Amino acid sequence: MSITLPATSVDGLISGVSRDYDIERIRADFPILKRTIRGKTLVYLDTAATAQRPLRVIEAVDAFSRGYNANIHRAVHHLSVEATEAFEGARNILRGFINADSIREIIFTRGATESLNIAAQCYAASVLEPGDVILLSNLEHHSNIVPWQMVCEKTGATIKVIPIDDRGEILLDEYEKLLTDRVKIVAVQHVSNSLGTIHPLKKIVGMAHRAGAVVVVDGAQGPPHLKVDVQDLGCDFYAISGHKMYGPTGAGVLYGKRELLEKMPPWLGGGDMIKSVTFEKTIYADPPAKFEAGTPNIAGVIGLGVAAKYLEEAGIERIAAHERDLLDYATPRLETIDGLRIFGKAAHKSGVVSFTLKDIHPHDIGTVLDTEGIAVRTGHHCTQPLMERLGVAATARASFGMYTTRQEIDRLVEGLHKVIEVFG
Ligand code: PMP
Repeated sequence: MSITLPATSVDGLISGVSRDYDIERIRADFPILKRTIRGKTLVYLDTAATAQRPLRVIEAVDAFSRGYNANIHRAVHHLSVEATEAFEGARNILRGFINADSIREIIFTRGATESLNIAAQCYAASVLEPGDVILLSNLEHHSNIVPWQMVCEKTGATIKVIPIDDRGEILLDEYEKLLTDRVKIVAVQHVSNSLGTIHPLKKIVGMAHRAGAVVVVDGAQGPPHLKVDVQDLGCDFYAISGHKMYGPTGAGVLYGKRELLEKMPPWLGGGDMIKSVTFEKTIYADPPAKFEAGTPNIAGVIGLGVAAKYLEEAGIERIAAHERDLLDYATPRLETIDGLRIFGKAAHKSGVVSFTLKDIHPHDIGTVLDTEGIAVRTGHHCTQPLMERLGVAATARASFGMYTTRQEIDRLVEGLHKVIEVFG
């Protein structure tokens, strides 16, 4: 059956995005950036917590409800076919976006947290035995720690921590030493949300595989900042967060190698994840349906597909170069501020600057900056073990995105001088 999608479908919304990297045009795509906070133009430096959304994503989500809201996979009626095509179209976009081998390897989830929990509960819990080891890096987000602790409680496996140096880089020599034959899983992030470190993932994966371990990647901070090619990286699982890559909240992806997904037990039980059900026995559907019970966040997934296309067409390499420029601009300027200390000096970094200022509490820094219309994140950034390693309870964090400008960094520097006036 061939159907024509409405003009508001994924294809309609992504046409004409292609253009040179032009910061002013990019900013014009993000309506929220025109907001004023307390009479001052918003300076949004909290993209690592959640990225703002371009109009195309907003419109795609809206268009679904207005034009073709229906449940997917289940009905022959026109709206359901349109909804299904848009939803499955997004799966195909995400497959291409991370260069997965097959759409069967793309499971839609609520976000990176759910993706990591599926890898832990469905894969790890079914293979780990008492005495087995899971390696985590010292930088991990709580979403890539707690699920593994839950699995250890179930299976009798234990967690060991790969140490880092003072710049925030994983110590590869120490990692090598930890890679014994008891290690069954290495769960590491691609990019640190707290420090911005971009890890040498391909190397980390290769070392794990040589030791016979499976690699689960927390990629929440990966795709918005760098080109992700799961086949080139060789990782076994890769968790993606839609809202970190300019898409809606409540939509994400778990990439998994097909042979692993096929062997794993399902996640939730319910509709859409079955081939047949009797009261005696259920035969599960093949992946990805096996892991997608119930009605998903259809509009969110469609929006995520649009966000992936938007990123691709803006050019991920160009975005990375832009963010690198911002980091090079921001770092020395921030360091001229008396008493400001930056945490995280890795050689490869995304656009994240974590810092403390004298002995001013980071929440106070954030509160004064907010009066200037500047949004930064303060706290432990869901990485308490990392904070402990760094010897601080919390930091302030400015994180950049594809729409961030040098002028906004100037505003941050001015804002921090105000913080010193108030508290210094
Ligand atoms: N891992 C990292 C590194 C993150 O930055 C985040 C979000 N702060 C997550 C996992 C959780 O992602 P999500 O919000 O999609 O569940």
